[in-house]
Amino acid sequence: MAPDSPRTALPPDTGPTPSDDALPRIAWIGLGIMGSPMAENLVKAGYPVTGFTLERQKLDRLAANGGTAAASVAEAVRDADVVITMVPASPQVEAVAYGEDGILANVRRGALLIDMSSITPQTSVDLAAAAAPYGIDVLDAPVSGGEAGAVEAALSIMVGGERAVFDRARPILEALGRTIVLCGAHGSGQTVKAANQLIVAVNIQAAAEAVVFLEKSGVDLPAALDVLGGGLAGSTVLARKRANFLDRDFTPGFRVDLHHKDMGIVTDAARAVGAALPAGSLVAGLVASLRAQGDGGLDHSALLRGVERLSGSWAGG
Ligand code: NAD
Repeated sequence: MAPDSPRTALPPDTGPTPSDDALPRIAWIGLGIMGSPMAENLVKAGYPVTGFTLERQKLDRLAANGGTAAASVAEAVRDADVVITMVPASPQVEAVAYGEDGILANVRRGALLIDMSSITPQTSVDLAAAAAPYGIDVLDAPVSGGEAGAVEAALSIMVGGERAVFDRARPILEALGRTIVLCGAHGSGQTVKAANQLIVAVNIQAAAEAVVFLEKSGVDLPAALDVLGGGLAGSTVLARKRANFLDRDFTPGFRVDLHHKDMGIVTDAARAVGAALPAGSLVAGLVASLRAQGDGGLDHSALLRGVERLSGSWAGG
């Protein structure tokens, strides 16, 4: 939850500001599967990047790739012009944003906060409102494209917030992705991301069901996936998850735990506006089942394991 009122002591208005030709200093919070390659792409684009995350080895990786490792959120954001967060879910965004050691209490006025995590739209709305009294502009800017999209700087970035702030952030976002769209007011980026996760989950489930059906029917699976990929059934999911399905390699990628979180976000948000999601609700249950069976740490392509269990063809392991 956002704090009820701003802290009494605002940060100084006079922190270091970039000279006209210097690129903004970036603080990056959350160097996981997505955050590490994204932060490194900013380093490659010439931005000074200072990062903080919970795993020591991820901090070492940033330092080895030209960034600077900080010992805390407060230390990372102190001299930053732009703070980017890429953490798992709403509670972690709130943990790094609020409180004495958080971003709002330690970043200088006039800084820009871009949250790229996938969280509830309401958390984004609350964060923007909580940051406003401190003179900190906020955008929600969740992404799609997976680890490969992060590595290749080819992400789709769906943004919520004000147009002028979006324009300010655009050069940074262009170093991270290819399709960058302002979707509306605060929280809109998260709403679009929730829709994205609905489409991806249902798509993976359908592809997984097709894989089991094809195998049980004795069809040459790689050949079948080749021809399916060239027709209307083709999709980014089918192309990107093909090897996971064929090799039964469920190394994340995108963890089932995170997709479970996202299915909760989209089903709650849809209920709030009166939109029925019959297929989405069913797949949300299947994702929850996968997690309950101990597969939460696997890539979401492991929905195939759930279909195999239901079909009596899972070899176990
Ligand atoms: P991850 O679990 O690999 O990384 C999360 C990182 O956040 C970790 O390094 C952790 O140390 C850090 N973190 C957590 N709490 C922290 C705190 N209090 N202070 C500092 N750091 C903290 O997750 P990920 O796969 O990189 O996903 C990050 C976000 O991006 C999630 O919201 C996810 O839903 C979204 N997303 C992921 C993918 C994907 O394919 N992995 C794709 C699109 C969007």
